[in-house]
Amino acid sequence: MSDTHVVRGADRVLIQERGPGVPEGIHGAECMSCEAVSPLFDDDSLPVAVWALQHSQDQPDHTLFLARTERHWRVVPRPDDPPPPSSPGPGFAGPAFVGLMCLLTALSGLLPALTA
Ligand SMILES: [Zn+2]
Repeated sequence: MSDTHVVRGADRVLIQERGPGVPEGIHGAECMSCEAVSPLFDDDSLPVAVWALQHSQDQPDHTLFLARTERHWRVVPRPDDPPPPSSPGPGFAGPAFVGLMCLLTALSGLLPALTA
């Protein structure tokens, strides 16, 4: 198998990591007036909002926060491209042709049963 047609760097794709144990997002915030940083919470920004409100109650001058949502990304090899349709050779077109004939045969046998 030859990959000479693949542009360098184009054989990989970036996806958002999903699955068991992987949070949809990691939420956090920091105060713009001091060094206070909230804990990080998976999949839920509400505790971060509560933290910001509580911090603002403790420090009434601190009213601006930088809220973040972090996600996991993963780079994976790009799935193999399907063979080009112009690919010559009877070995490529043969199975598709046989499959089509089988489908037509099945349909022709089914039609009389439907109209009966
Ligand atoms: Zn603060």
